[in-house]
Amino acid sequence: MRIIDTHCDALLKLQLSQRNYDHSKLLNFTNATDLDCSYERLEKGGVAVQFFAIFIHPDVPSDEKWQHALEQVNLFYTEVLGKNPNMKHIKAWDEMDRLQDDEIGAVLTLEGADAFGNDLMKLRQLYRLGVLSLGMTWNNANLCADGAGEPRGGGLTLLGKEVVQLNNEHHVLTDVSHATVKGFWDIVELADYPFASHSNARTICDHRRNLYDDQAKAMFEKGGLIHVVFNPPFINKDSEDADISDVIKHIDHLCSLGGVGQIGFGSDFDGISSFVTNLEDASHYPNLINELLKHYSEDEVKGFAYQNFLNHRPK
Ligand SMILES: [Zn+2]
Repeated sequence: MRIIDTHCDALLKLQLSQRNYDHSKLLNFTNATDLDCSYERLEKGGVAVQFFAIFIHPDVPSDEKWQHALEQVNLFYTEVLGKNPNMKHIKAWDEMDRLQDDEIGAVLTLEGADAFGNDLMKLRQLYRLGVLSLGMTWNNANLCADGAGEPRGGGLTLLGKEVVQLNNEHHVLTDVSHATVKGFWDIVELADYPFASHSNARTICDHRRNLYDDQAKAMFEKGGLIHVVFNPPFINKDSEDADISDVIKHIDHLCSLGGVGQIGFGSDFDGISSFVTNLEDASHYPNLINELLKHYSEDEVKGFAYQNFLNHRPK
């Protein structure tokens, strides 16, 4: 079954390997076993579209963040696209409709506005480079918003609100996955295309990265999507262990809130250090699909896998 996966951190892993300044250590996107989302694993798992996040670690000094972002964009072009002819860059949403069966679409996203600081020219440049989904923060605060790990729990700043407006104008998703509760509500109010690229249900696992029921319902009412994440600590409270049935509990719960047509998958592969049993990398997607088919109709599972995203993506 064809899959749309809306979050991975393969670009960061590629960049870290490149920054060893030893060319023999640069991970090979085609088949490196260190990559959960290598081309071969995506192909084996039936992934039709993979989102690739630009993510800058908070330890990177502010004046080096833009350089780090450009390095990751460069690796997206040279290693992900350039060396794998069947990887196709999705630069506009309707290009997903023209993928051939043997092609895998690649979507560039940004996880954290600190990459561009307060320089909206840089943001416009990122749109031109193909960024189609933008999360304001990782867990730390930046000039646009507080992240889910900030104790003060602030929402969007004036700059953050301006960025949401620019996302709307560019038909870019505004990702709530690392937002504070207050930031979430600011985004749901202002964004034409609110989106949770990799978050679960907080009623099932009380973690700051997950969404309360009223948040999930608001997303669904606004036409937004919630893509469930395969990171065990976001699945089972205080646990590094989870199996596929635990992931399905989150799907069941989000469906009970009205989300059957508006949920999908956002693995967080290459950004996580513990794994769901039998779902350790992108090649294992059929294990999840087969288990879901025991609980849901084929149409519903196709919805989770890709059709829900296609139905609710920006135009
Ligand atoms: Zn994340």
